[in-house]
Amino acid sequence: MQLVCLDLEGVLVPEIWIEFAQRTGIPELRRTTRDEPDYDVLMKYRLDLLKKNKLGLPDIQKVIAEMGPMNGAKEFLDALRRDYQVIILSDTFYEFAMPLMAQLGMPALFCHKLEADAEGFLVNYHLRMPNQKKEAVQRFKEINFKVIAAGDSYNDTAMLGEAHAGILFHPPQNVIDEFPQFPVTMNYGELRAEIDKASKRI
Ligand SMILES: [Mg+2]
Repeated sequence: MQLVCLDLEGVLVPEIWIEFAQRTGIPELRRTTRDEPDYDVLMKYRLDLLKKNKLGLPDIQKVIAEMGPMNGAKEFLDALRRDYQVIILSDTFYEFAMPLMAQLGMPALFCHKLEADAEGFLVNYHLRMPNQKKEAVQRFKEINFKVIAAGDSYNDTAMLGEAHAGILFHPPQNVIDEFPQFPVTMNYGELRAEIDKASKRI
């Protein structure tokens, strides 16, 4: 049995924090792990900023729903799910992703959780476990799935390496250069062709 594990942001939906920063006009929210390598410091900074700007979870979800998935993502995913079991492995949070997952036909999603207070302001975040993308692929292999994984960035490379076949989708040039072992695809047609090719090989 073959399983396809897909990254979410940058593959099926926009980068949520970056797009959110643009749509709300809060440029400080563009800060990423490249600017602040300590993820905990970065997340607390983001949650504080949301509260300072009086953005509670319902406001945030409304903005995220308006982003919508990337062009062609729904069609790509629908067709893929007809031929493969598909699980989305993401480092985002359920509370952020759900408005977009609804627009993608509610595929299975494994990600992290946020905690809101009684007024709806986000006060904390809970990572399900460290390195969950790679760990999940490892577990799927243990229960006898052949795994094909695709993602666009650094936080996917461990998952791609763990899978029977790893594929890069629309990655930045530095990731292409640093991980020449993974085939590079630039659009959904190429990604689907590479998944089908891997499926015959593994
Ligand atoms: Mg990504």
